[in-house]
Amino acid sequence: MDIKAPRGVRDILPDESWRWAYVLDVTAKTMVDFGHSEIHLPIFEQTELFSRGVGDTTDIVEKEMYNFTDRGGRNLTLRPEATAGMVRAAVEHGLCAQGAASRLWCWGAMFRYERPQKGRYRQFFQIDAETLGLSGAVADIEVIALSAEIFRRLGLRNLEVVLNSVGCPKCRPVYREKLLAHFSANKDKLCKDCLLRLERNPLRLLDCKEPECGALADAAPAIYDCLCDECASHFEEVKSGLSGLGFPYKLDKRLVRGLDYYTKTAYEILSGDLGAQNAVCGGGRYDNLSESVGGPHLPGVGFAAGVDRILLVMEEQGCSFGKRPQKEVYVVAQDDTPAVRDAALGLAHRLRVEGIPVEDDAGDVSGKKRSFKAQMKSANNAGVTWACLVSLGEDKEIALVMKNMATGEQTAVQPEDVALRVKEAR
Ligand code: AMP
Repeated sequence: MDIKAPRGVRDILPDESWRWAYVLDVTAKTMVDFGHSEIHLPIFEQTELFSRGVGDTTDIVEKEMYNFTDRGGRNLTLRPEATAGMVRAAVEHGLCAQGAASRLWCWGAMFRYERPQKGRYRQFFQIDAETLGLSGAVADIEVIALSAEIFRRLGLRNLEVVLNSVGCPKCRPVYREKLLAHFSANKDKLCKDCLLRLERNPLRLLDCKEPECGALADAAPAIYDCLCDECASHFEEVKSGLSGLGFPYKLDKRLVRGLDYYTKTAYEILSGDLGAQNAVCGGGRYDNLSESVGGPHLPGVGFAAGVDRILLVMEEQGCSFGKRPQKEVYVVAQDDTPAVRDAALGLAHRLRVEGIPVEDDAGDVSGKKRSFKAQMKSANNAGVTWACLVSLGEDKEIALVMKNMATGEQTAVQPEDVALRVKEAR
């Protein structure tokens, strides 16, 4: 077939899919324990939500968004991230009305036109948690603790929490000037992208991956000396709160993240087992995001974790995914007579309704029923616990035999007893 999945977009096949389900189950339970309620957001939003929210001069908005115009002439964008949509939904539905706080989470596909490589795709999946309506450092600490707890429950090892403060609109301009002075004096060493960043978004100079720019960024002044009193004390509270909970972290003055909306806390969780794309999670505080997209003042803090990358790390580290859901019973029709086929179909349905996973012979691609031998082979391959053999007895009555696939033991049973026997033997 000439038609393939688009570049950078992958299919999640059954062998991987059940592992996803495990990761999302563990996540959902952890979210409940930390007081976050699940919501579902639209996959596309008005383009303006991202251009104003994430920031016009970010890589995401400048180079990576999937924009389109619908038949009504509306400018829409496949969501590149979830935070802006979360804030939009909370404001639109009054979830934080009258000063209420809202703890939310969602998961789903995000879309960015990035250069595909291991752990970086154009359609990828994120788990996203946000705490809206709280400005105190406790919310930051709890959000970081929540992300770390999800990874702990999933069994991920060799992770590092990297922390920074990016200040606020009061103190960041002071820092911006210092950065401008530092980098302008070394303009000749900057890459093409950084020369543009110098004009448009100097903070982003700090996370350039080019070696020469990186060396300059290492030598750049740290924001810590420029933080206003409020940002400085918030940062101190976050650090001591994390230490109090026993979470080790590393400070990184170059951590600025690729989205403009962050204020105060910015953090990432990095894996030592991911190669170049080593962030499994990133987040922070965004006290002005709501206002920047035309909403009321609504402080918030949250994180997004990449499901694709979590899976890569878990596989690399041999983490457990629990037990893969198995078919439990294979219903085998002894012959192709209508009476036997009807009885087999009836039994399969009866068991499924009882919550027992069943496979049976629905025929082949040409609609032909398969032989008894072929069905038994399938039963073996399916790894079921039981095969139920349906046949027509000498008395012309339907006969049922349950075969224990592990021991080979066979027992004659009545149709109404099969479900109970399967459940009792679990
Ligand atoms: P961000 O929204 O850029 O802060 O990213 C948050 C997390 O999403 C990252 O730490 C990654 O785990 C994941 N992520 C971001 N971009 C991609 C991508 N293109 N492909 C796969 N995962 C991604």
